[in-house]
Amino acid sequence: MVHASGRPGPGDSFLFTAPCNTGVKMPIDPDHVSPSIKLIDVQPALPSERFLVAEPPDAEAVPMDVVFVGGGPAGLAGAIELARLVQRDREAGGTLGELEIGVLEKAGQLGEHNLSGAVVNPSAFHELFPELSIDDFPLRQPVGKESVYVLTQSASIRVPVPPTMKNHGNYLASICEIVRWLGAKAEEYGVNIFPGFPVDSLLTDEGRVVGVRTTPAGLGRDGKPGGPEAMPAMDLSAKVTVLAEGTRGPLSQAWLKWQGITSENPQIFALGVKELWKVTTPLDRVVHTMGWPLSNKTFGGSFMYPLEDDLVALGLVVGLDYPDARFDVHETLQKMKLHPLFHRYLAGGEMMEWGAKTIPEGGYYSVPSRRHGDGLCIVGDSAGYVEVSSLKGIHYAMHSGILAARQIFEALKLGDTSEAALSGYSDAVDASVIMRDLRKRRNMRLAFKDGLFSGGLRAGLMTLTGGAIPSGKIAIEEDAAKICQLGDIQEQFRPDGELTFSKADAVYKSGNQTRDDIPQHLIVGEGITPEVAEMLELCVRQEYTSVMGQS
Ligand SMILES: Cc1cc2nc3c(=O)[nH]c(=O)nc-3n(C[C@H](O)[C@H](O)[C@H](O)COP(=O)(O)OP(=O)(O)OC[C@H]3O[C@@H](n4cnc5c(N)ncnc54)[C@H](O)[C@@H]3O)c2cc1C
Repeated sequence: MVHASGRPGPGDSFLFTAPCNTGVKMPIDPDHVSPSIKLIDVQPALPSERFLVAEPPDAEAVPMDVVFVGGGPAGLAGAIELARLVQRDREAGGTLGELEIGVLEKAGQLGEHNLSGAVVNPSAFHELFPELSIDDFPLRQPVGKESVYVLTQSASIRVPVPPTMKNHGNYLASICEIVRWLGAKAEEYGVNIFPGFPVDSLLTDEGRVVGVRTTPAGLGRDGKPGGPEAMPAMDLSAKVTVLAEGTRGPLSQAWLKWQGITSENPQIFALGVKELWKVTTPLDRVVHTMGWPLSNKTFGGSFMYPLEDDLVALGLVVGLDYPDARFDVHETLQKMKLHPLFHRYLAGGEMMEWGAKTIPEGGYYSVPSRRHGDGLCIVGDSAGYVEVSSLKGIHYAMHSGILAARQIFEALKLGDTSEAALSGYSDAVDASVIMRDLRKRRNMRLAFKDGLFSGGLRAGLMTLTGGAIPSGKIAIEEDAAKICQLGDIQEQFRPDGELTFSKADAVYKSGNQTRDDIPQHLIVGEGITPEVAEMLELCVRQEYTSVMGQS
């Protein structure tokens, strides 16, 4: 491994280390800074061959009937629904008998990879457990008051709550608590939960998915088994694999590409950065904001939700098509907390948790045309079931898991888990509340692709006409196709450690326990120049180590 000491030559590749505290600050030569760039021109292709392995499960494979990849709301709701259907079938003297259902979750414990505070539509809980009442669900309190503000740097102007942001009937909740509650329910129904087992690849046989292979654990920097925690990869065979791996899932992307499945628009993403705060001043309402600290070229907004009298979740969600590559969502959230609207609640409080995650925000036209195949279904965020103007994905994820489970159950009863037998799943989603809601607001986010002013006007028109105008599709490009530039160098942000935090401190608060000596896994393709590297800013410490000549 060679640390960067100069500019790369043609054919050199860069490998950004993660963790990155062993690297050196990569020199940026101001004379070579490109005025503008499309990241799509330098972005390497998805290495599909890594995620799709044309091998049968090995001789020691754990035999499963159905495997859910990902223990979030989608995977767990699906596993519970399937287990309940199988139980009912057995009790009614059906022929299916016992089924082995597994949920593989890469986090060490369920809920560890889910960001806390959320406003949740309870409909999927009622669908999953019709016999339970709202008080039985892991939801905190119903949303009462809510306010929307347009911010300037020092003021906040209250505006009427747009219809898309109204939360009457929804509940404040912690998504970690939801996931842990669903996990416990799944175990009650006999589902095998495997936390700490990331799925590395799908095992395929001709066009069919026949199981999964987990990632070997405990490897050293050289990629060889390291200490006592080392564990080899494990295969699980499955008649159906359900991809519930969340947003931007590489297994889902690789499978869709392999199957040649497309969507009318490419998927686009936002980045959400969220913090959980212990506060001394109670917040009495759900708050959403627009405007500052985002420029009029950047799509997004913030939220602040009361979870308890002394617990508040707040965050900033920003579309990843922002034009200034130096823009930093985490840092912008830190500055935002100094605004009087937030400061009055956070001052004297303590930041308890931090997390960041992307959100698929393309909506209706970015959902793949088919989300099922031979031995496979895709559910939740992996399929793009998010309605971003209301910032809702949890209940859609759960509904999709439930619909997949119902179709899988029928397919297993028929003894046929082919693409044709599972097609009822995509059909059911298309006819469900998921696609109905996404369709109603199909152009809401897309309208803002041409600028905030015209977007605001078009969004208003869509709201007034219930989504009828504009009637057709607003065509978009993927985020990486947008031209971005290195904007002006801003004065260095100095966090105070009380209200504002560096990214390294924030990552510590995320509970990330990655060892310092794991193999490098953030690999950026060939010919990456330092200025592109700066635009990508992959490392929280902004230190990059390069490996020359590898591909
Ligand atoms: C900042 C922010 C705020 C949000 N606020 C709200 C809100 O208020 N209300 C709302 O309804 N929605 C909200 N959402 C959206 C919501 O969080 C998602 O739509 C929802 O969590 C999707 O559920 P899922 O099960 O599809 O995916 P996730 O919840 O992402 O779960 C996927 C799981 O799969 C695991 N996984 C991934 N890859 C693998 C692998 N290879 N092997 C094993 N496990 C794997 C992950 O660790 C994770 O636990 C918000 C999102 C963000 C980022």
